Amino acid sequence: MLEIIALPVLTDNYIYLIHDPVSQETAVVDPALAQPVLDILEEKGWQLTYILNTHHHSDHIGGNCQLKQLAGCKIIAAQADWDRIPGIDQGVNESDFISLGQHKAKVIATPGHTRAHIVYYFAEDNILFCGDTLFVMGCGRLFEGTAKQLWHSLQKLKALPELTLVYCTHEYTQANGRFALTLEPGNIELQAKMFKVNALRNNNQPTVPTTIGEELASNPFFRENSVEIQNNIGMKDAHPVEVFAKIRLLKDRL
Ligand code: ZN
Ligand code: FE
Repeated sequence: MLEIIALPVLTDNYIYLIHDPVSQETAVVDPALAQPVLDILEEKGWQLTYILNTHHHSDHIGGNCQLKQLAGCKIIAAQADWDRIPGIDQGVNESDFISLGQHKAKVIATPGHTRAHIVYYFAEDNILFCGDTLFVMGCGRLFEGTAKQLWHSLQKLKALPELTLVYCTHEYTQANGRFALTLEPGNIELQAKMFKVNALRNNNQPTVPTTIGEELASNPFFRENSVEIQNNIGMKDAHPVEVFAKIRLLKDRL
């Protein structure tokens, strides 16, 4: 069993530490900062083996160089981001595998938020680290890609088993949920999810991980086929990509 620690940093980022007790290997996903990671490593007595980056934004790579220097780890990121990931040692592409001890993660390319965004999927562990592609009840903004690209990327994540645990990099959940409810106020599962999320936030608890199943039931960016959403945004029977693009646009305008 992999041990996962969610470390809240900056305003709303999460850094994830993944530890395999069998091999004693440890990875960190998207270290915005180095020091909080070093503190946990020391507290746990873990040695850092890898940094896994999902994309090049500063709130995902800020700790790369310091961690590499102080912990001597290897940095893995998208080959296509080679020129903009500080300290990169290994470039990976769609369908490559990386491993942490005996645990394997598949690299899935999810362009849209950025053109080279990747996610790490530990299929046998049912765990997904999805960076800024998918959020709880939301998805990443389109900085370098088109709505069509991000829609295609999200189709890959939608197809994963429903019980997959989803670890995203930002705590945007409550704002996302409020927006989702404006589009689909009649969705009982969305209401229930929001109830759960509000209780967690009231106790200062993270709303991650979510699951693919919960997102299928509540996330408007997974629900472009919902008749209620289509009606509420005046896009009945429109192509799914167009519905998706409109939802993204409405969210951007908030
Ligand atoms: Zn980003
Ligand atoms: Fe980010």
